[in-house]
Amino acid sequence: TTTFPVAIATGLVAVLALGGCGAAEGSADRPLVGVAMPTTTSLRWIADGENVKAQLEDLGYDVDLRYAENDVPTQVSQLQGMIDAGADLLIIGSIDGTALKANLADAAAKDIPVISYDRLIRDSGDVDFYATFDNYRVGVQQATSLLEGLGVVDAAGERTSAAGPFRVEVFAGSPDDNNATVFYEGAMDVLEPYLADGTIVVPSGETDFETIATEAWDPKVGAERMTRLLSSSPAGDEPLDGVLSPYDGISIGIIDVLKGDGYGSGSTPLPVVSGQDAEVPSVKSVVAGEQYSTIYKDTRQLAEVAVAMGDALLKGEEPETNDVTSYDNGVEVVPTYLLAPQVVTSDNYARVLIEGGYYTEDELR
Ligand code: BGC
Repeated sequence: TTTFPVAIATGLVAVLALGGCGAAEGSADRPLVGVAMPTTTSLRWIADGENVKAQLEDLGYDVDLRYAENDVPTQVSQLQGMIDAGADLLIIGSIDGTALKANLADAAAKDIPVISYDRLIRDSGDVDFYATFDNYRVGVQQATSLLEGLGVVDAAGERTSAAGPFRVEVFAGSPDDNNATVFYEGAMDVLEPYLADGTIVVPSGETDFETIATEAWDPKVGAERMTRLLSSSPAGDEPLDGVLSPYDGISIGIIDVLKGDGYGSGSTPLPVVSGQDAEVPSVKSVVAGEQYSTIYKDTRQLAEVAVAMGDALLKGEEPETNDVTSYDNGVEVVPTYLLAPQVVTSDNYARVLIEGGYYTEDELR
């Protein structure tokens, strides 16, 4: 496979410039691809945008890449702008997966194919294909690595004799993102037997998705909830042993609050904290022994899959899929290509991330 090196960790400035670029410039002989991404506040989406754009340009397409900074009306108007400018294909990393129905209906009326990127666009019959990682598996991996960090399962995922009870709080992602529910389901399916037999207890009692969701994946929202959980736990309570966190940015917010509360110094170690995306600050935290794990999703691969799908569609060919049953968006089952996510801890980060060429040693120093 071809990959395209990008300065994943240092691309912020470059991409902010891209996000602000002017009107689309599809030339007569070069098809135009509109690429809508959710935000530059998270490094993974910067890498996604850069990878998709570079790979499309390499194949000879013009690209209009836009970031909507987690603002739904901005994304809606960016998409409309792409459609009006004559885009031949849309690749969309949505913010609110249910908010794009009208855009997509218009695209369909103009025969513009739509690829849902990473996040499933819901409630629309006009989503042609979906490229993503196995989101259920991400949740399974997050929860399994949490159990491993607690010593409840061994490296093979087999239950040990550790009986607990281990005190764990559980966080979920943004309710408007279909992925958040799928991650949650994967994680809770793993935790459920341990909750049922008391090996794991949730001191707050909060485990419902709606209660533990983190609006807009916002680290501040996660930090506020962590603060509330700590301040409402009765004095003299045992410290927390683990926190299931769905995304690296939220993990950082949670760890900061925990440190402010005295965890990680003196006799109270930081709890085992999970994450997702292998973003540079979190990989550094994993290497430093703070965050326990993250889930690595190679954004170069995801870009390759989405770009190959788009290229096939524009050539009138059938894109490759490997899952045509899992992703029902409320109106239709969207044919999907699923990639494999991978757990990263301090044990394997060098092999997976550095030898795998995702980051240089310097970027992680
Ligand atoms: C992505 C995750 C990411 C989260 C927050 C999800 O849709 O699949 O990789 O951590 O959004 O950006």
